[in-house]
Amino acid sequence: MKSVEQYRNQKVLVLGLAKSGVNAARLLHKLGAFVTVNDKKKFDENPDAQELLSDGIKVITGGHPLSLLDEDFKVVVKNPGIPYSNPIVSGAQEKGIPVITEVELASQILAGELIGVTGTNGKTTTTTMITMMLNQRTNAGKAYVAGNIGVPASAIAQKATAADTMVTELSSFMLCGIQTLHPHIAVITNIYSTHLDYHGSRENYVKAKMRITMNQTANDYLVINWDSEEWRQLSKQSQATVVPFSRQANTKDGAYEEAGKLYFKDEYIMDAADIRIPGDHNVENALAAIAVAKLQAVPTAGIVQVLKTFTGVRHRTQYVETYQDRQFYNDSKATNLVSTEMALKGFDQPVILLAGGLDRGNEFDELIPDITGLKKMVILGESAPRVKRAADKAGVTHLDAKDVADATRIAFEQASAGDVVLLSPANASWDMYKNFEVRGDEFITTVERLKG
Ligand code: ADP
Repeated sequence: MKSVEQYRNQKVLVLGLAKSGVNAARLLHKLGAFVTVNDKKKFDENPDAQELLSDGIKVITGGHPLSLLDEDFKVVVKNPGIPYSNPIVSGAQEKGIPVITEVELASQILAGELIGVTGTNGKTTTTTMITMMLNQRTNAGKAYVAGNIGVPASAIAQKATAADTMVTELSSFMLCGIQTLHPHIAVITNIYSTHLDYHGSRENYVKAKMRITMNQTANDYLVINWDSEEWRQLSKQSQATVVPFSRQANTKDGAYEEAGKLYFKDEYIMDAADIRIPGDHNVENALAAIAVAKLQAVPTAGIVQVLKTFTGVRHRTQYVETYQDRQFYNDSKATNLVSTEMALKGFDQPVILLAGGLDRGNEFDELIPDITGLKKMVILGESAPRVKRAADKAGVTHLDAKDVADATRIAFEQASAGDVVLLSPANASWDMYKNFEVRGDEFITTVERLKG
């Protein structure tokens, strides 16, 4: 950790707790700041706030009182999920107070190197692959995952030494709140249309993603997907050295797939079929990770070892179990259409798909080509009527379920030997579950129960 003096004896406001807010508050306290935290949840239902208070931090809970703005804060650290239209956030901005997210703070104290990974899909998988590959080096510091992946960057930045690397998953919400964050290597896995409710338009969403490279220079690298004309054009905005990756051999300047083989420039790395986790999307993620690993001097044998053995991140097309010759895959993290499409493309066997969740008002017509030919669908959640409409159009028989446990049991009853039962909801989980992890855990536990 670097020693940072800029917050000593300064008043700072941490808006919104959860893991990243708690860590930011503790870190700022340690850096000598006078910290106030403000969280919507009431004090007696708020263990985080209770703990911070006992550490000597000022805590305001149960709402976001505008009177907070009367204080002279040097900076506001906002939870990435709080929109900029929140009156305290907009009020602070009007007063000229910088509003940042916790990753910005983390980057200010990080002594080691920063690798940032963003994109609509594949962030967590790619971040994990990169970290595992970097840790194959024997003559280098340690690589840590951090950020949106569930490990607060400020916690890692405090323990990382100058020799270490923080591989940070960055959501577009986090990127909106950076100022000086400067990855040596930035990765953009892809940019599809999602989160438009928060960002307002695709243009704003793309702008948020491109912030990952805004502080980069020619000594840095931007590893970017080359398989869309739009993304190739976007790369021109970057000052960094562009290292492309492509599944369509659109370029041979970076990592690419050609005739089922993966290369980095002119070096053959491995066959795509030997990547342990299924799906073309994972070939893309692997190519992005190969590019980063090669830039960081990971030996090819180390790269291949990781890709041949890595079984996937929990809840991301994660292989769970084979029971009575039915394979169960948990892709609870598939909270949008593209993710589910990608997951489905990864299977050649008959699939029973469990889908549906939070209703965002969109229809599922885009999914029709991918669900056509499915053995069956088990549909659940608030969006069920819309998912059923798509299933009907695709000619897929469907059954109703009241929750994931029910859906898993139904799917098991309907499945025959050799089938895949896949939870890949194409929707967020918040209609029924606290988050996608809880939803995926219910799937895993139900499979375990079925096994008795
Ligand atoms: P993120 O962290 O960006 O949400 P994950 O690596 O957690 O991405 O993967 C989430 C889901 O998105 C996966 O289960 C898979 O269905 C899908 N997915 C993963 N990688 C890609 C990709 N490169 N392109 C499209 N979809 C992908």
